[in-house]
Amino acid sequence: MIDKLPTLNRLLKQLQRVPYLASKNLYRVAHHFLEMDERAMQEFCRSLTDLLAQVVKCSQCSAWKERDRGCSFCDDPKRDRSVICVVESWHDLYALERSCCYQGLYHVLGGALSPLDGIGPDNLAIDSLLQRMQGECKEIILAMNQTPEGEATAALVARKLQSTSVTITCLARGMPVGSSLEFMDKSTLHKAITERRNF
Ligand SMILES: [Zn+2]
Repeated sequence: MIDKLPTLNRLLKQLQRVPYLASKNLYRVAHHFLEMDERAMQEFCRSLTDLLAQVVKCSQCSAWKERDRGCSFCDDPKRDRSVICVVESWHDLYALERSCCYQGLYHVLGGALSPLDGIGPDNLAIDSLLQRMQGECKEIILAMNQTPEGEATAALVARKLQSTSVTITCLARGMPVGSSLEFMDKSTLHKAITERRNF
């Protein structure tokens, strides 16, 4: 049936490429677009073309910024310039920002090492991080995800920073807030007990 609707089929093929969009929802999303009134649809399309034209990566930290505005991190005089938190992606950065507990700068690598997906060291923003070591930075926080890819990436970045004088730290590992010991997996418990701290 869908072959008789080539325009709709083209939209479905585009939707298939959108990560996080479950394939069982593609027809529902397409239906939502079809039901949109003309003005709402034009507004939606304009927001996408504006995104393409106006939102760029900051040349220092690689976080997204408006083309004609400063970076909300690198150009904010209130941020602590002595510490840079290295994250895999922009959404990791915003997860940390939402916690309101960090006032330093960031560096977005643009992913994690994943040979199976064709992501090697050259695909990550590591050289631009090394260039930032010539500034006021005294501490680098490695805030990669605790996955095999994230840990391999953290080890690589730490190795690259070895010859610099910065202190390298990583996020604390252990029990999530509100959790019970009996439901904890073995590796989380292992990290919690081996990396314990003074009370
Ligand atoms: Zn920036």
